[in-house]
Amino acid sequence: ILDMKHIKKHFGDNDVLKDISFSVEEGDVVSIIGPSGSGKSTLLRIATFLETMDDGELSYLDKQVVESVGGHAIYKKQLQKEAMHCFGLVFQNYNLFPHFNVMKNIVDAPIRIQKRDKEEVYKEARALLKKMGLEDKEKAYPSELSGGQKQRVSIARALAMKPRILFFDEPTSALDPELTQEILKVIKELADEKMTMVIVTHEMSFAHDVSTRMIFMDQGVIVEETTPDQMFASENERTRAFLGKHH
Ligand code: ATP
Ligand code: MG
Repeated sequence: ILDMKHIKKHFGDNDVLKDISFSVEEGDVVSIIGPSGSGKSTLLRIATFLETMDDGELSYLDKQVVESVGGHAIYKKQLQKEAMHCFGLVFQNYNLFPHFNVMKNIVDAPIRIQKRDKEEVYKEARALLKKMGLEDKEKAYPSELSGGQKQRVSIARALAMKPRILFFDEPTSALDPELTQEILKVIKELADEKMTMVIVTHEMSFAHDVSTRMIFMDQGVIVEETTPDQMFASENERTRAFLGKHH
């Protein structure tokens, strides 16, 4: 579904991504782990067009949205617009619209941006809210919800777009342990339903249990990319040092 090749990104003299290649197939659940500042969020932000790369290639569904010409990334605007429909994104801080109630937060983009049938979207939104255990919160505003509830709304909002890939950037790092487990359970259920996902997380045992593949990033490079079992049995010194701290 997603194919990224030789991605380079710097901020000033800080080389944040140094020639990263990364791809996601249908049904993959990829966890990205690594120390603070290793470039995990930047990689997700580039994959979702919130940030531009300096050089590299990017394709969604075999359509090349970004090509590398003479060492520079060239974005094809029309294809980028189409690719925006391929993915959903869930952040650490929910990013809900504070002035919209729960239902409006979920149905706004499918109706306004995807121009889908209103009744159908509302029907699906109700089913999503039920799935997230929020059927009684339709009319609540984000400020009236707990962190865990807000995060479940933002997952429902992302799913309402019917994405081919769902990206998560530390979806539980703003939550207390109990609410964290609640959100991890929702993500695990999506994995069981074969949702394709890329998850940046510091929850190591969760990453081990949910992933088909794990990526360890450090200082702007992918140090290791392997199965969860092999990652936790890694002989690599940097991987071991990182995992040792996070067990
Ligand atoms: P964390 O685990 O703390 O979320 P991360 O792996 O997600 O870390 P990034 O947020 O991708 O790391 O940041 C990678 C590096 O890029 C860091 O050194 C950060 O300071 C730098 N950086 C990120 N965004 C910007 C920006 N907009 N301007 C300048 N530097 C940035
Ligand atoms: Mg980050």
